[in-house]
Amino acid sequence: MYKLRPYQADAVRSVIHYFRQHDDPAVIVLPTGAGKSLVIAELARLAKGRVLVLAHVKELVEQNHQKYEGYGLTGSVFSAGLGRKETGEQVIFASVQSVVRHLAQFTNEFSLLIIDECHRVPDKKDSSYQKVISHLREKNPNLKVLGLTATPYRLGLGWIYQYHTRGQVRSTTPRFFRDCIFELPIHFLLDENFLTPANIVDAPVLSYDFSQIHPMPTGSYKASDLDMVISDAQRVTPQIIHQIVGQSEEKQGVMIFAATVRHAQEIHALLPSSSAIITGETPQAERDDIIQRFKQKQLKYLVNVSVLTTGFDAPHVDLIAILRPTESVSLYQQIVGRGLRLAPGKQECLVLDYAGNRYDLEQPEVGEAKPSQDCEIVTIPCPACGFNNNFWGKLDSQGILIEHYGRRCQGYFTDEETHEREICGYRFRAKYCHECGADNDIAARICHECQATLVDPDKKLKEALNLKDALVFECHHMEMMIHKDSQNRSQIKVTYQGDKQAQVHEFWSVITKKQKSVFHQRFVRPHLADKHRPFHEQSAQKIVASQHRFRFPLFVIACKTGRFWKIRDKIFADELTQLPEDIALKHRE
Ligand SMILES: [Zn+2]
Ligand SMILES: [Zn+2]
Repeated sequence: MYKLRPYQADAVRSVIHYFRQHDDPAVIVLPTGAGKSLVIAELARLAKGRVLVLAHVKELVEQNHQKYEGYGLTGSVFSAGLGRKETGEQVIFASVQSVVRHLAQFTNEFSLLIIDECHRVPDKKDSSYQKVISHLREKNPNLKVLGLTATPYRLGLGWIYQYHTRGQVRSTTPRFFRDCIFELPIHFLLDENFLTPANIVDAPVLSYDFSQIHPMPTGSYKASDLDMVISDAQRVTPQIIHQIVGQSEEKQGVMIFAATVRHAQEIHALLPSSSAIITGETPQAERDDIIQRFKQKQLKYLVNVSVLTTGFDAPHVDLIAILRPTESVSLYQQIVGRGLRLAPGKQECLVLDYAGNRYDLEQPEVGEAKPSQDCEIVTIPCPACGFNNNFWGKLDSQGILIEHYGRRCQGYFTDEETHEREICGYRFRAKYCHECGADNDIAARICHECQATLVDPDKKLKEALNLKDALVFECHHMEMMIHKDSQNRSQIKVTYQGDKQAQVHEFWSVITKKQKSVFHQRFVRPHLADKHRPFHEQSAQKIVASQHRFRFPLFVIACKTGRFWKIRDKIFADELTQLPEDIALKHRE
């Protein structure tokens, strides 16, 4: 009989609690080394009704089945690779390929489907996983589907689920798995000594410089770009390998992550004979044989190109060398995670990073590529809903935030009565439409509300600086007051002030319905600072009295019409994609 660790028991409880209320497929995230086979075994044991546990490879089917039988229970195995096609017991451990070929043998009603390594489940209807799921749902429309993974984030696709239980939106488009209901970070396992500590060494002297290349829209790097960087650094590879071999003397198992197949071959040729290479093209039988010999320590060095990042388990690995840029925090953590399993006599895992990745094991996945090498993860609370967002950002030497790259708030709310979810969607950076006042995504070219063409604010500012009769200044103060027009009616006068007595005024009438709506669109929407509270004031007096709710623009652009300056544009700080310090300001009297 096994005893669950406290977090494993928490994971089991969260699943039971969730499925009491929901039928939507859900995910739990457990890093490698968290012991997910035990969680699966406990859930299968507690479930009422029949349970199917699916995996994509026979090794995982076997592993999960063994843990279950460790409880003194008996489960069926349905896997051609294991030579067993049993369906008699209440709990069946199966490989998805074997089940999809023999759906007719699954005529009973299942109450729970557990999918291991569930990041492999595609949304496509004709995939093996979806065929099995729809077959089981025909028998039981209330089938509960639970996925387990260490990596809920995939390059190209993004997050595999839509909502996180802590109130976070991960994807604005629906996903097969709706909710992530439990997630254990790697650093928890490290803190509790359930994993071996990593000793991460950045090797800045001997390293590849991948900073000039950028991932493709799919999120991964082009092999030809990577090969170019590597061949430019011809003399570096032999020196790196020399260093790795030197560091390996006392080590048991060394995994080297190469950037491309060519790179892997080059590395392999430089290593001692107790080494092997696995690429995407290595035939299955040969791959199995190499892994077997590596696990038995007949081979010391294993070179691979991103094929051994998940599902591979050799606890004795105590040196990880990273010779490739990693496109995401998750991928980096998966690579390092290969060396963190506990093993007898293992004190730490040495991680040598030759690619300047600069991630660590504490970092949460951001879901966006790192905008530049000097960025780090910053927590930004949403002014509208208070949700703490994780974004890429830049800090100064004192640790003060210079800027962050977050676009929209990832918080969501659940209506307590209808249980419907509403995405907060507050925009941290927006392009304001100067026709209708709507906020648009910073990258938008056309207003999503009125279809007006949106000009890039950076471009707008640069163009204004080249105009002849234009006044462009940084706004330091804004004041609103009541002004009487020629017929003694109240108007709102807005004064924008900058340095060197730069000052322009703007007048708004808010008497007719039309005027009110124009004022709302063109002034209230871009200027309102606390957008989560609607602005209802109607009269000029009340609007002026509420002026603390309006923020002032960063730049004001005005043009001369007759004797007066007329405001042509206002640019807000969050509209600019680059910092304005490199924009030389002009100021004409
Ligand atoms: Zn929010
Ligand atoms: Zn618009």
